[in-house]
Amino acid sequence: MGFLYRSTRDHNETATASQAILKGLASNGGLFVPDEIPSLDVSFEELSKMDYREVAYQVMKLMLTDFTEEELRYCINNAYDSKFDSDPIAPLKYHHDAYFLELFHGKTIAFKDMALSILPYLLTTAAKKNNIENDIVILTATSGDTGKAALAGFADVPGTKIAVFYPKNGVSPVQEKQMVTERGKNTFVAGITGNFDDAQTGVKKMFADNCLNDYLNSKGYQFSSANSINIGRLVPQMVYYVFAYTSLIAEGKIKAGDKINVVVPTGNFGNILASYYASLMGMPVNKFICASNDNKVLYDFFTTGTYDRNREFILTTSPSMDILISSNLERLIYHIAGDSSEKNAELMKELSTEGKYTITDEMKEKLDRFYGNFSTTEDVASEIKTIYDEDGYIIDTHTAVAANVYDKYKKETGDTTPTVIASTASPYKFARSVMTAIDPAYDAKSDFELIDELEKLSKVKVPQAIEDIRSAEVLHKTVCEKEEMEKVVKSFLNI
Ligand SMILES: *Cc1c(COP(=O)(O)O)cnc(C)c1O
Repeated sequence: MGFLYRSTRDHNETATASQAILKGLASNGGLFVPDEIPSLDVSFEELSKMDYREVAYQVMKLMLTDFTEEELRYCINNAYDSKFDSDPIAPLKYHHDAYFLELFHGKTIAFKDMALSILPYLLTTAAKKNNIENDIVILTATSGDTGKAALAGFADVPGTKIAVFYPKNGVSPVQEKQMVTERGKNTFVAGITGNFDDAQTGVKKMFADNCLNDYLNSKGYQFSSANSINIGRLVPQMVYYVFAYTSLIAEGKIKAGDKINVVVPTGNFGNILASYYASLMGMPVNKFICASNDNKVLYDFFTTGTYDRNREFILTTSPSMDILISSNLERLIYHIAGDSSEKNAELMKELSTEGKYTITDEMKEKLDRFYGNFSTTEDVASEIKTIYDEDGYIIDTHTAVAANVYDKYKKETGDTTPTVIASTASPYKFARSVMTAIDPAYDAKSDFELIDELEKLSKVKVPQAIEDIRSAEVLHKTVCEKEEMEKVVKSFLNI
């Protein structure tokens, strides 16, 4: 059967991979972590000849040990198909001295599609395997991109319903329009009068509420999560790092065994954690470069060893990274504490009571391959312009945070290791911030005029996801207080 997944807060709570995917979150707010990360069992030379789907199978079979080959291939083949508008679905583009791994060629033009196009298949397969008869209710808090990617993935999937909460004034106009025009019959979208952390805390509270869960069960429902706290998100995200590495081999840019750096624009710490897990599987990494925006709680953590969320929440031009509680960092804390749920639970308790915690020196030493830095809003704008001026390549604001932090890293260290930057969103999703970075005069134009201007400058065709919302009708109009989240979920379910 292979190894089990275990709660970061209770050593005795275990689950198979499929059970962990179904539950999303462990009890008492813990997260499921793998007891081991097996090594890749095919060589990098062999992997470098495989397409994305085959690499996905080779990685995922090691992590999702209770899925059969047939089940996994069914999930992979249905997820990674012509929904993606590029071949390969995660291309590498060399600009500005780095390889940009474009992860935004899916349905909603953000990297969340890489995991959320497969999660519904993994989840419904897991439900079947575990003889679940309840309908699964996906509860999702979003800083902008997860919401639409999850809606697109779960729309009209039999046996599932999905509710998405986003910060009413904290997402880009394109992000909001994408969500509130969702047509799936089993979907519900609400803005909350709070920020992303409020939405995530509200969702976690519902997961942890035994009373509510019993009530739901009596009505034929159970919760699961599409957030990156679900290992069904993290595991598919490991794939593209391995794929990037083997693509570099295939293109003759590196030799098997050479180290690379990865730079990840980070919010909830899911994407960068997936790269760390990929390295534990055997992908050689020199540095994990964690890039933050002005909400630089992770930069402070990596430099001081203290995680402190007691600070002002800043709205930036990279809204999907406007987060002060990076949930997945808990998994890394658990690992550097020697896979200790006791030590981790203590620190997480301090986080919830005092809003901060400090790790020991011994734990800090284990973070020596992580480098953190941050970019201000001005840094982001000038980075977009610099790269555009160099060769016409246009990146989005989140990717620009990463590119700018990589510039800072190089200046500080002189390191010349080949570097992959996770390019997490299409510039079309943040057209106003991107275009005004190139020339402030664009600010006078309307959102859709800017889209057309962006097409002219970038010579990249307007993606279908944008065409879809030009004329779409707004179908979801609920706005609620953060205290009302449970109430609106119940009314969505008619219970
Ligand atoms: C979600 C998101 C991020 C942050 O990813 P995490 O896994 O939460 O760290 C960065 N960029 C974009 C565009 C995103 O949508």
